[in-house]
Amino acid sequence: MITIRGLKKRFHSLEVLKGIDLDIPKGKVVVVIGPSGSGKTTFLRCLNALETPDAGEITIDHVHMNFEQKISKQQLLQFRRQTGMVFQQYNLFPHMTALENVMEGPVTVQKKNKEEVREKAIQLLTKVGLGDKIDYYPYQLSGGQQQRVGIARALAMEPKVMLFDEPTSALDPELVGEVLKVMKDLANEGMTMVVVTHEMRFAKEVADEVLFMDGGYIVERGKPEQIFNHPQEERTKQFLQKLQ
Ligand code: ADP
Ligand code: MG
Repeated sequence: MITIRGLKKRFHSLEVLKGIDLDIPKGKVVVVIGPSGSGKTTFLRCLNALETPDAGEITIDHVHMNFEQKISKQQLLQFRRQTGMVFQQYNLFPHMTALENVMEGPVTVQKKNKEEVREKAIQLLTKVGLGDKIDYYPYQLSGGQQQRVGIARALAMEPKVMLFDEPTSALDPELVGEVLKVMKDLANEGMTMVVVTHEMRFAKEVADEVLFMDGGYIVERGKPEQIFNHPQEERTKQFLQKLQ
């Protein structure tokens, strides 16, 4: 589903991604862990074309990008539509209801039929447990509810892959579970997912593979059991120790 080769990204003199190679099969869930500043967000943003890599190639479900060649705006948009992104800060439009937030992309960007989009949006909000809150504005919703709207909004664009950047980090502890449950359901339905999170229980239960990123590289990767219980690399061991 996803093939990444030689992915590099720098901000001026700061080299953030130094050469990432990765394959993610369809329907798999990959959890990315690593210290703050190790490039996890930049990596997800490159997958969603919110950042343009300096070098390398990414293929997501037959859409191929070679970042050493010139890329048209059209190509970039097509590539971006392959993935849906869920952010740490939910980034909902404050002046729109939950339903309007979910409908916005398909109606405005994809120019789809409004009635069909509305029906689908209601289905998605129901799926994330907010069927009774569709007319609420973000300020009337808890953080956990807002983040679930964020997930429904990303799903409304019918992406092939879902990207999550620390989706529960901004939430009060008692609200984390409801968001993780929605993500777990999505994984069980067969969605391909890349999740940056420090929720180790989620990683253990849901991840097919865990990646440890540090210093611009994937330092170590493996099954959750292997990474958490038998890390091979010194840097992984040190990072995991600090989390406990
Ligand atoms: P993480 O998500 O693992 O904490 P990030 O990808 O956010 O790491 O950041 C990696 C490094 O890149 C950090 O040193 C950060 O300051 C830097 N960085 C991220 N985005 C930008 C940007 N737009 N401009 C300049 N530096 C950036
Ligand atoms: Mg980050």
